[in-house]
Amino acid sequence: MNVVQTFDDIVIGAGHNGLTTAAYLARVGRRVLVLERSDHVGGASISARTFPGMDARLSRYSYLVSLMPRQIITDLDLDVRLVRRRYSSYTPLPRRPELGLLVDNGDPEATRASFASTTGSDADHDAWQRFYGRMERLAQRVFPTVTEPLRSADELRTLVDDDELWSALVDAPIGQLIESTFADDTVRGVVATDALIGTFADLHDPSLRQNICLLYHLIGGGTGDWDVPIGGMGSVSGALARSAAAAGADIRTGARVVAVDPDTGVVEWDGGSAQGSMVHAGCAPTVLNSMLDRPVITEPTPQGAQLKINLLLNRLPRLRDTTVDPMAAFAGTFHINEDFSQVQSAYAAAAAGRIPSPAPCEIYCHTLSDRSILGPDLDDMQTLTLFGLHMPPELFSEPTALQQAVDSTLASLDSVLAEPIADVIARDGNGQPCIEARSPLDLQDSVGLPGGNIFHRSLQWPWAETADEVGTWGVETLHSRLTICGAGARRGGGVSGIPGHNAAQFALGR
Ligand SMILES: Cc1cc2nc3c(=O)[nH]c(=O)nc-3n(C[C@H](O)[C@H](O)[C@H](O)COP(=O)(O)OP(=O)(O)OC[C@H]3O[C@@H](n4cnc5c(N)ncnc54)[C@H](O)[C@@H]3O)c2cc1C
Repeated sequence: MNVVQTFDDIVIGAGHNGLTTAAYLARVGRRVLVLERSDHVGGASISARTFPGMDARLSRYSYLVSLMPRQIITDLDLDVRLVRRRYSSYTPLPRRPELGLLVDNGDPEATRASFASTTGSDADHDAWQRFYGRMERLAQRVFPTVTEPLRSADELRTLVDDDELWSALVDAPIGQLIESTFADDTVRGVVATDALIGTFADLHDPSLRQNICLLYHLIGGGTGDWDVPIGGMGSVSGALARSAAAAGADIRTGARVVAVDPDTGVVEWDGGSAQGSMVHAGCAPTVLNSMLDRPVITEPTPQGAQLKINLLLNRLPRLRDTTVDPMAAFAGTFHINEDFSQVQSAYAAAAAGRIPSPAPCEIYCHTLSDRSILGPDLDDMQTLTLFGLHMPPELFSEPTALQQAVDSTLASLDSVLAEPIADVIARDGNGQPCIEARSPLDLQDSVGLPGGNIFHRSLQWPWAETADEVGTWGVETLHSRLTICGAGARRGGGVSGIPGHNAAQFALGR
């Protein structure tokens, strides 16, 4: 007779959220099995030695942390250290790249002067201060609720206590608020890009998915700051895996789950099966659907929208703007060809099936904040991580498309540099340039992100959208013993551990 091993909880996928669920549950003494299809844990939150012969451990996919509540770090005793960046952003003017807007949190007067010299007045600086001040007030009220049972939209609106901002954010496309608040196309673009990370949308899209994306980018920690994880993103998932394993969770890699019976809790994977009182899916909901007889979620296949490029450089490139030190410009988010009008045109081009040119993208240099990811023989080198907007999977059907997208994106970067980026890219142990590029289709294959969507599916408002949802954790499915503990839950998306925490709370409360 076949004896099936039994567990209190089986977690599908050892992304950082699955690991969070496992750690919470194992720490209260539950027997937990984690099944991960690839040969390593971490999902989209990993570090990797990407370039042969080079001891550089880059955050391969996700790179900055904003949405992970301190409470999770404390609860799980995680050795996670986050560093705040002094420079928020640098944006060379697309039409005049010898000048740029530097937002320096350490020097408010320099920031004001930079707004004045790039926009011609103080008006947008003052509007910026007011806008982000109001958003921070909203963040301070909304963020603490994301690890609690869901409240209604009305309750959140009352809590936020800024009806004008709430309506502008929740009832109308965010493009309207940005256009009515800021006059300058570049300033509008810097604000708008937070609405477009991993989200393929026009800023006036009636679906408002771009609004939700903006909200997630501004509420993290109640401040909206995006911090650098010391040691790279692998240190975050590594700490979670250690916490779960130390508490007794059984974490198995190379175990691709193929079927789940939500009535019995029997989970089958390549090479085995087990039964769980509860099953928690840390993979994307559409991936979970493929394991079930009946789908848990019926919606179109999600769509990603980004090109990710990792680079190792011999040194930082010189800028066309000689008034700013590259060490400052690359330390924050460096926006390239991301004016409001440019991101709108790029969306239109991509929606019509063309690779955007110029390609809007943003870059940041991890090694200016944390050099621990480089081995001792790479002392002078720097890493750059580049995130290109509006690159949906449909653009990558031809075999040559990835190279075209990379060429378009590096040309976009070159437009603001005083020397070609190619001149400073390091060579790996085989003499090849240290460039790693990943399209949405690559992310679908390597990480299991459907359509390459970095959030597993379109982000959802972080409050209940129906009366039935009030008081739930936003992780429940139509099956009582099956939860979604990954980014596809309500209040999922990003490196946060929030859905992982919430699935564990639901399981413990049953
Ligand atoms: C290029 C890129 C850049 C990003 N940048 C940032 C950033 O800077 N900051 C940020 O906060 N967020 C960022 N994100 C988003 C963030 O990384 C994700 O939203 C988050 O990592 C999702 O975590 P997760 O644990 O829910 O799922 P995942 O990390 O996707 O993990 C799911 C796991 O399930 C496994 N799996 C899938 N199918 C099966 C199966 N059949 N059986 C067993 N296991 C399975 C997968 O292998 C994977 O390990 C980025 C994402 C990408 C791709």
